[in-house]
Parts: sequence; structure tokens; C-alpha cells
Amino acid sequence: MNRLSDRINALAPSATLAMSQKSSELRAQGVDVINLSVGEPDFFTPDHIKAAAKKAVDDNFSFYSPVPGYLSLLQAVSDKLRRENGLNYTTDQIVIGNGAKHELCNAIMALVNPGDEVIIPTPAWVSYVQMVNLAGGKSVLLPSSMEKNFKVTAADLEAVMTDKTRLIIVCSPSNPSGAIYNHEELKAIAEMLTRHPDVMVIADEIYEHINYVGRHESLAQFEAIKDQVVIVNGVSKSYAMTGYRIGYIAAPLWVAKAVTKMQGQYTSGVSSIAQKAAEAAYNGPQDCVEEMRIAFQRRRDLIVGLLQQIPGLELNMPDGAFYAFPRVEHYYGKRYGDTVINDDNDLALYLLNEAHVATVAGSAFCCPGYIRLSYATSDENLCEAAKRIAEALAKLS
Ligand code: PMP
Ligand code: GLU
Repeated sequence: MNRLSDRINALAPSATLAMSQKSSELRAQGVDVINLSVGEPDFFTPDHIKAAAKKAVDDNFSFYSPVPGYLSLLQAVSDKLRRENGLNYTTDQIVIGNGAKHELCNAIMALVNPGDEVIIPTPAWVSYVQMVNLAGGKSVLLPSSMEKNFKVTAADLEAVMTDKTRLIIVCSPSNPSGAIYNHEELKAIAEMLTRHPDVMVIADEIYEHINYVGRHESLAQFEAIKDQVVIVNGVSKSYAMTGYRIGYIAAPLWVAKAVTKMQGQYTSGVSSIAQKAAEAAYNGPQDCVEEMRIAFQRRRDLIVGLLQQIPGLELNMPDGAFYAFPRVEHYYGKRYGDTVINDDNDLALYLLNEAHVATVAGSAFCCPGYIRLSYATSDENLCEAAKRIAEALAKLS
């Protein structure tokens, strides 16, 4: 008998992690899979950050840390926000969590009541809808498309608002589309939000530094709505520290306090060693961030160029993050042997089985008709993956 809660029965597993797991299993069986599914920098964590983690062990940072994080790390994040973003947040407005994912979920839990509506422009990262479900909220998906550069406007957002709207989630640079909202677009959204003072917005800025078109623009820069904004960010992508699990929110004090209360019951302060490493990341030299950004840009140009040559794949040039997001509808109805491609899930599975390239179906991002490829891997892998994809797709007729 299924004794699981309705909450867990309703929860979908993370498609990005599931696809990555599938590709690891195939690899363990000896299949030479190129994994472009999970979004994770392939670089090693920079040496000065690793040294700080080792030192933290030797300095006996082995006790419980304060629930919102060490004051020294909160100060490092506060300094980062001032230095890089021109934003003033006091240390008590910042909470450190077990990755940006944890802080996103905490913020949603703290803000959303059962029945509240949360507007999510799509394509959207896999976990937003599931987190809203966990809180008992209702996701209102607001679709965009390649023709609109995968962005929505202030007017689009306002058009789907109701008296139940509690929260909007804006991800820029976006996973999976790579779209980046520019200053004017964010300003228009901010002006619209001044008319809806009870609506909060989560600005997911985890790809802040993986930006190929200019300076990062944060929604929190607009003073009139700063108290409606919860910034989510962390070290995973910018400093190649996914396994350290350090993320944060910077938010109005009442949100930070609520998230801290929740963390106090749920997880306590996060890993002491990882916090000391993150502190070194924020306070230390920043050239590693730029070096990785340049490498990602080169890889973007490479993979997008190669994929654009494949007949039937349609894709634009993403402005940030490290994903290509081609439309694959051209292949619907085509077959190879017994395999028929009816949707993006079929195509992602076909590419895994036939080309041994792991991708993620757009449906996982509430955007059927596309697939996502992470290009956070070597040039060699990207060239080989593109070759295999081209060969496998050419077999479909
Ligand atoms: N937001 C987005 C858009 C992401 O792609 C991810 C995945 N890394 C996260 C949040 C969570 O990041 P992490 O928990 O590794 O800090
Ligand atoms: N954010 C990454 C991705 O989209 C990591 C996997 C995950 O946390 O879902 O692939």
C-alpha cells in the first residue's frame, strides 16, 4: 500500500538529474555517452578556494554554524552585492543555504500560501513548478518562444495577474534558454510591479556571471520595488562549486527572518567548510570567473555554429548561461527502424540511445518542442556530440 504523502506522490523527479543519472548508468555499462544533460561547469574549483576549504578543516570549522551562515560569509556576500551590483544589503538580509536550489525553495515556502498563484515565464528551470507545488501554490505558466527571444514583457506578466497572484519568478540569464533581460525590460517590469505592491518577485541570478552581452542587471536595482524582490544566487556556476552546495538569498528583512526560521527547523546552518570556501570565492581574486566566462562563450559559439548546420534544428544564439535550446519539431512524425519520434521526450531518448548523447527534453522546462544541451564541457566533446547528433538525426525519415 502506498503510504506516501499526497505531497510526495505529486512531486515529479528532477528531469535534469534523472537524465544525468541515466547517462551515468549507461556509461557504467561501458557505453561511451557524452553527457550534455546536467548543467554543471566542468572546470575544477579554483585553487585559492580549495585552499580555503582545506584551511577550514585544519582550523577546526567543525561545529554548527549560525543558521543564516557565518557573519564573515554574510559580509562577503553583502560586499559582493555592493561591489558588483551596486546593491545595499545588510548582513541580516542575507541567508546562506544549501545551494541556490535550497534558498529558492525556502523563499517559495516562506511566501506562498496554498491556492496562491505564482507566475512562471516559460521555458523555465525544472524545479520552479515542483517547488510551488510543494508549497501548495498554483503555477501560472506564461509561455514565450524563440521568436520572442524566450522573454516575456511587463505587459505579458500583468495580463495574467489576478488577485491571487503572490509571486513571479524571473530567471536571467535563463536556464534553459540563455535569454537575458536588459535594463529597459527589467525597468518596465519594475514599473509594473509598483502597481502591485503585494506581489513579490524572485530574481534567480545564478548565471549572473555567465553573460556574453554585458553587465549583469538585477531587478533589485529599482529602488521602488526593492522590497518586493528576493535575489537568489550562489557559487555553483560562477566559481565552479556545484558540489560545495552554497547559495543565498538577499531579501527584505522579514523574508530573510522567515527563511532563517525555516532553516532552523529544517536544516540548520549549512556546511561550515563549504561556507569558508565560498567566503574565499567572494573575497578573493575574480579573474577565474572571467576566464571561465570566456571559455563558455567560445564553447557557445562552437556548439551553436555546429548545431545550426544540422538541417531541421532551429536555434538562436543564447546571450548567457551555458545551454543551447534548439527547436526539434521538424522531426516529429519521423522514424528510424521501430522508433517513432512523437515529441521532444522521444527525441531526447532517441539521441541518448542512438547517438549516445544525453540531453534534456524541453517538456521538462514546460516548453515542449525543444531540447536542451549543456555546453559546459570540452570542445572535443562538443564537436563529437554535434557529429553524433547530426548522424542520428539524418537517419530519421
Ligand atoms: N536556478 C537555476 C536556474 C539553476 O539552473 C540551478 C541549477 N544549478 C539552480 C538555481 C540551483 O543551483 P545550486 O543549487 O547548485 O546553487
Ligand atoms: N541546474 C542544473 C541543470 O539545470 C543542475 C541540475 C539541477 O539542479 O536540476 O541542469
